[in-house]
Amino acid sequence: MLTDFNNKGVIITGGSRGIGKGIAKAFATYGAQVLIISRDKNTCDATIEELNQCGLHIFAFNADVSNEEQMQQAFLYAQQKLNNIDVVCANAGWYPNQLIENLSVEEWGQVMDVNLKGTFIALKVFLPGLKRAQYGRVIITSSITGPITGYKGWSHYAATKAGQLGFMRSAALELARYNITVNAILPGNILTDGLVDMGEDYLQKMSDSIPLKRLGSVADIANTALFLASKEAGYITAQTIIVDGGQIIPESLEAF
Ligand code: NAP
Repeated sequence: MLTDFNNKGVIITGGSRGIGKGIAKAFATYGAQVLIISRDKNTCDATIEELNQCGLHIFAFNADVSNEEQMQQAFLYAQQKLNNIDVVCANAGWYPNQLIENLSVEEWGQVMDVNLKGTFIALKVFLPGLKRAQYGRVIITSSITGPITGYKGWSHYAATKAGQLGFMRSAALELARYNITVNAILPGNILTDGLVDMGEDYLQKMSDSIPLKRLGSVADIANTALFLASKEAGYITAQTIIVDGGQIIPESLEAF
């Protein structure tokens, strides 16, 4: 069975909202012990309460993924709460929109810190747990923006999302000796609060440009994460799965 995660320990950075929350719900539904990591305590508490009411039991730890010390504390907490650390979903991300001419070096660095350095730190601090569990799945939430497509105002974000894939390939080679796989999901436009902040006009234009004529759901991404984390996906490593409703396929508007 693809979705048997009983007693598997799953870490999800950025699990308090959006895609990460959807991934947390999916793993917990299929029996995993789940720890979400994000910064805002109130959002984490609200998520835990909501998911507990669905009969799911999820732990939370407040940490900034770009802060190694805080993430080490998250690792210690995970060791106390979870039987094992089998799966790490490096999902936390930030996508402020800013044209290059207005983009400060500081803001460029902040986006690098959260999206790219945060991915490295999440893998680094949880690696001892992954090695010990002898299961080993790392799933990175990248994006179509950067690795495949571009979008004005997202030069910094796109650079981090493409950078995650370079990191993924070398990490997969390094960690293969421990039987740990490292893969990435490339979502298209997924309906989350972060995306809603882009405004109604953006959302409408985006869904019009998608062959399947809808924005993606967090469940679309969570289902892909479940597959990549499954026992059956154990021979897949250093690969990307695009989940975008066909968005990147049309050559032009006429191609629809
Ligand atoms: P979201 O709704 O804005 O949620 C972001 C999550 O990451 C929150 O839990 C947030 O919690 C956490 N986070 C942000 N910065 C953090 C930090 N420094 N340390 C720890 N946690 C942090 O975003 P989303 O749309 O679900 O996106 C999730 C991932 O999917 C991102 O990597 C994004 O690039 C990728 N993605 C999203 C889409 C989409 O259409 N939504 C498309 C392609 C790729 P706190 O703010 O409380 O820390």
